[in-house]
Amino acid sequence: MKCQFCGSTDSRVLDSRNSLEINSIRRRRECLNCLKRFTTFETIETLPIMVIKHDGRRQQLDGDKIKRGIIRACEKRPVSIAQIDKMVDDIQKLAQGSLDQEVESSQIGEWVMQKLKETDEVAYIRFASVYRKFTDITHFMDFIKECKPEDKLKINK
Ligand SMILES: [Zn+2]
Repeated sequence: MKCQFCGSTDSRVLDSRNSLEINSIRRRRECLNCLKRFTTFETIETLPIMVIKHDGRRQQLDGDKIKRGIIRACEKRPVSIAQIDKMVDDIQKLAQGSLDQEVESSQIGEWVMQKLKETDEVAYIRFASVYRKFTDITHFMDFIKECKPEDKLKINK
């Protein structure tokens, strides 16, 4: 991490905290060369997780996709974005814990349902009733992304 004033790479961390952005950390640093202080935002490197689709194809785990699916299920429910972000974060952490960096897509679907069940029963039933028609969470998420507004209304009923 280069000093913003003198370019020296020697600095010490004074303070460190997670920023609001997921996987990002805010550090207050002091340059050991010129002693000036500066703030950096550093990304926590996480290994990519592959989702194994029903047909055996792989696709990288996409937190935004999971979030969209959960938001859809939680529409008009008393569930905050902070709660939704927490669910997405928990699911990503569960996936990160997999030994071989690969997770079955059906497992992701189960995690989503589990999290929704703990949070809001109606959102859970709404998600589960639509999801169960799909064999594959990635197909379900593609459907959510591509479907027209009138299809989305059907899901919300
Ligand atoms: Zn410096």
